[in-house]
Amino acid sequence: MVKVNENYLKLKAGYLFPEIAKRVKIYSQSNNSSEIIKLGIGDVTEPLPKACRDAMGKALNEMGTAEGFKGYGPEQGYSWLREKISDHDFISRGCKISPEEIFVSDGSKCDSSNILDILGKDNSIAVTDPVYPVYVDSNVMTGRTGDALINGTYKGLTYLAINEENNFLPELPQKKVDILYLCFPNNPTGATITKEELKKWVDYALQNNSLILFDAAYESFIQDKNIPHSIYEIEGAEDCAIEFRSFSKNAGFTGVRCAFTVIPKNLKGFSSTNEEIALWPLWNRRQSTKFNGVSYIVQRGAEAVYSLEGKKEVRGLIDFYMENAKIMKNKLQTAGYKVYGGDNAPYIWIKVPDKMTSWDFFDFLLQKVSVVGTPGSGFGLSGEGYFRLSAFNSRSNVLEAMERIINI
Ligand code: PLP
Repeated sequence: MVKVNENYLKLKAGYLFPEIAKRVKIYSQSNNSSEIIKLGIGDVTEPLPKACRDAMGKALNEMGTAEGFKGYGPEQGYSWLREKISDHDFISRGCKISPEEIFVSDGSKCDSSNILDILGKDNSIAVTDPVYPVYVDSNVMTGRTGDALINGTYKGLTYLAINEENNFLPELPQKKVDILYLCFPNNPTGATITKEELKKWVDYALQNNSLILFDAAYESFIQDKNIPHSIYEIEGAEDCAIEFRSFSKNAGFTGVRCAFTVIPKNLKGFSSTNEEIALWPLWNRRQSTKFNGVSYIVQRGAEAVYSLEGKKEVRGLIDFYMENAKIMKNKLQTAGYKVYGGDNAPYIWIKVPDKMTSWDFFDFLLQKVSVVGTPGSGFGLSGEGYFRLSAFNSRSNVLEAMERIINI
């Protein structure tokens, strides 16, 4: 008899996006569905940069020749891409991250959950609340939590609230935690962290032999000079942090799939007998065994992100989405809403009007003006009373949605 992984049974039903879809469907049955504007999903909308398309086209043609054909590539990624990443994303910012410390992959969503493969089961874990749900669910699936409680949290996890009171910056855990998930710029709140604040986390991790899993999928949206793009801009982070990066949001690769994870060679965990064990060889072994690399064509596309033309186009994409975010923030503020995020991230985090829940506000916007967003409570308990809008959309949709909201 086949036994299932019962940890999956602990998962709360994937409630958020199916529930949104259900409510939108019901609404569109009695209303003009073509008028609905969706500002809920964190997927990009603008076309791929020409530099990336050209590079991928060229690589595809190369693969059609006897000399240019490529079979399996290195599981860690081609060295020419890892060198570019090291130079442009790290060395240029003063971070000593070498190409060998970079592992190219098909997504930071998978990496941020697969990383648990090389980490012990009995580590104590902290996540922010609200949170990118992947961190929580992948811990549940691998048996690192207890059951779900009625309020939707899981036994055994430490939740660090982020809200207006703490300026959307989590406070350091009261008790010692082994693994800390941090995501900056933050999904869903759009908040960022300064070097001084991030240093507190690095110091905490170094003092407690903890590991920070730092998700920087949105780093390219940072506009302010004093906000770090990488945790390795903080001294000592190579000894306590893994960083996840992605080409999804900067170069529009959500459908192309390419990302990378940084595991510094210095980074150590411990065996049950308290021996220091480097994490790099474990991840290298894990990737070599379970992953066969990202396609040559896609890696050539990612490489083009670092060309002069590619950089210019990516800048254009980021500027476009950030202009959307600015328009949204200004209009919503003018309409009297309290609005956070949106300055260094493609997400706007709205405080919903008094006496409404996140879902009340969802229904209110849908019914009144056919605009769809994401209820903050779907990202965690402390997300209740907030609402996320995404800047990933066409300018005309953004302008139209804002016009409708301010004229309610
Ligand atoms: N990390 C965060 C915080 C995200 O919001 C997302 C996607 O929305 C991802 C990672 C996924 O990135 P990728 O497309 O590289 O899997």
